[in-house]
Amino acid sequence: MKLGAIEAGGTKFVVAIGDETGRIEKRESFPTTTPEETLAKVFAFFDQFDIEALGVGTFGPIDPDPNSSTYGYITTTPKPHWNQVDILGQLKQRYPIPMGFDTDVNGAALGEVSFGAAKGLDSCLYLTIGTGIGGGAVVEGKLVHGLLHPEMGHMRLVSHPDDEFRGICPYHPYCFEGLASGPAIEARCHQKAYELPKDHPVWEMEAYYIGQALATYILILSPKKIILGGGVMKQTQLFPRIHHYTQSFLNGYIQKPEISSGIKDYIVAPGLGDNAGICGALALAKQALEK
Ligand code: ADP
Ligand code: ZN
Repeated sequence: MKLGAIEAGGTKFVVAIGDETGRIEKRESFPTTTPEETLAKVFAFFDQFDIEALGVGTFGPIDPDPNSSTYGYITTTPKPHWNQVDILGQLKQRYPIPMGFDTDVNGAALGEVSFGAAKGLDSCLYLTIGTGIGGGAVVEGKLVHGLLHPEMGHMRLVSHPDDEFRGICPYHPYCFEGLASGPAIEARCHQKAYELPKDHPVWEMEAYYIGQALATYILILSPKKIILGGGVMKQTQLFPRIHHYTQSFLNGYIQKPEISSGIKDYIVAPGLGDNAGICGALALAKQALEK
């Protein structure tokens, strides 16, 4: 079957055609400009194909509640031009087919459970550590929404003993995103994150924050797999230190082999690599069609 997928990012949009196995047949990307201009490019792409369903994984905040009057909107984003934009409504007007709509990270979590590192499991947590920090979760086979959708990047953390940085989040001092996103690293070090040497002390702090946050997510959600994506996780030397700090913050409390001896296979990189986002949108399309 032919499925359409949109990964709507704050910086770029990725559009793709794929199938129910997660295979991508064709993909294109373009910068995110105004909604009018960006959606015109989206239409130009999908008009060439006859798709059965479409999945949209998007930056937020969004309204993912099908019973709400603003379902399918990007809501209170500070991104210029994108505040209160009915993205799903405009897509539905053009293509009257089943559509899935969710946060980019919820999409990625569904993609990893359907086709990637958590395939065969009924639960996982997907975390992106990039321009922002966000998390999506599948629990007992279903994506977690609740009141709105989880905003896992904004919880308060305890500072690393050597870190005097207050963080860059305008809402919360010392929140995870404010302390550990790519822009936070760059604000602290006055250097591009990808240019920092692998043994720079900031990476130890980074692992400390990620491990601390993961320990809390494990306590609350009890995920069967944790997947870490986003630009900052290109620093693969972080993984062993994240494993260490996650164990250290849990301090032996969760008695499961996944955490005590198998943590290397429990906290992992995306099985779908750089396609985690777009395959996630494909998984949303597949789910919409099955519903
Ligand atoms: P987005 O979050 O916008 O979708 P990314 O996940 O690629 O995009 O995140 C971009 C952020 O990740 C940048 O702010 C940058 O600081 C950081 N980043 C990108 N590449 C690297 C790298 N190789 N090492 C460390 N940080 C990186
Ligand atoms: Zn915050």
